[in-house]
Amino acid sequence: MEKMKMITPLVEMDGDEMTRILWKIIKDELLLPFIDLKTEYYDLGLEHRNETNDKVTFDSAEATKRYGVAVKCATITPNAARVEEYGLKEMWKSPNGTIRAILDGTVFRAPIVVKGIEPCVRNWKKPITIARHAYGDVYKASEMKIPGPGTCELVYTASDGTENRELIHEFTGAGVIQGQHNLCGSIESFARSCFSFALDTRQDLWFATKDTISKKYDHTFKDIFQEIYEQEYDARFREAGIEYFYTLIDDAVARVMKAEGGFIWACKNYDGDVMSDMISSAFGSLAMMTSVLVSPQGYYEYEAAHGTVQRHYYKHLKGEETSTNSVATIFAWTGALRKRGELDQTPELCAFADKLEQACTATIESGSMTKDLALITTIPNPTVLNSEAFIKAIRSRLEELL
Ligand code: NAP
Ligand code: MG
Repeated sequence: MEKMKMITPLVEMDGDEMTRILWKIIKDELLLPFIDLKTEYYDLGLEHRNETNDKVTFDSAEATKRYGVAVKCATITPNAARVEEYGLKEMWKSPNGTIRAILDGTVFRAPIVVKGIEPCVRNWKKPITIARHAYGDVYKASEMKIPGPGTCELVYTASDGTENRELIHEFTGAGVIQGQHNLCGSIESFARSCFSFALDTRQDLWFATKDTISKKYDHTFKDIFQEIYEQEYDARFREAGIEYFYTLIDDAVARVMKAEGGFIWACKNYDGDVMSDMISSAFGSLAMMTSVLVSPQGYYEYEAAHGTVQRHYYKHLKGEETSTNSVATIFAWTGALRKRGELDQTPELCAFADKLEQACTATIESGSMTKDLALITTIPNPTVLNSEAFIKAIRSRLEELL
């Protein structure tokens, strides 16, 4: 069989631990035999980040701006234990945080839905994608403990020295306060990423905040979304036959539970943090969640939502067998290849991505799966495969499909 040609390379960001092991097997078994794979390789493994003083992470993000599409393996975000384990020069920042800041992007997380792994919510038939605004609010707040009676105010001092004050509370006893902020520029980027991704995936977009209570803060989010929608996206949404609608967060929660899925739910930072964990556990497994970072300029970085699966890696190092689920990492590759195919107008590449995804779902639906899925499947007597055997089973399916 002749190998599929690629025009523009993908930015390939390698990573750590068990997912780094899977990364190599996926390339060897599912990609290199079928595609004339072109990538610009960046090793974001922790050792190499440390050797380059984390320059490699910055370089990989810059490369994503040049090429437009990246695929990333899970990486370790160092903590004190990791600094010791790897003898790090510094506690390097989260690569995802660095890349997100450079691309100014929004993260969209969606479950991979297969028969036999049923969501807890019976009426969910299609994936629900969560878009989380990843800047500000409670994550960049200043807080104070108030020891006793006194006055707390918000004070804004403009560059010309004029002051604007707003009373927070006249304390008569002890309490706590918090100051949050966000930036219109960041909210605008968030809105544009959401609208473009909705068009891209032809799904409705829902956005919800608590604007009835937060009449300036949350209302600003609502207004910015509405303005950008009307000015830049309304016509395109109509043409695509999709809808944007805003509602109160409480109403959104109630509707989500009754919906059948197949839409994007845009959330403020905290709501997105909480709701994405709820959605992923309700859909069955963290190992079946995909994640894509979309910048307002239309750069894409695809990855699995889970981490490096450290516990399995330590078993692997001891020579023990592992049964680690590679599906979300494979879908990171298919997402990136399909996007590359769309941009380069190489439909064969998009078709290959579709078939590789079908091979994954067909393998699971036929009853062959990794241990995490075997524990929750409704398929009777599933066959539990080890990490490598599962990927090889997907390869056999793929060969049948091609
Ligand atoms: P994790 O890698 O997501 O794994 C947590 C647990 O979830 C695993 O121990 C495993 O449960 C289960 N699991 C996750 N993915 C799985 C898969 N593909 N197949 C089977 N089971 C899976 O999270 P972590 O262990 O808390 O974090 C490990 C490292 O990942 C950390 O250093 C963290 O910084 C990093 N991390 C990176 C990213 C990223 O790059 N995007 C995201 C999150 C975390 P059992 O052990 O019970 O089998
Ligand atoms: Mg969380």
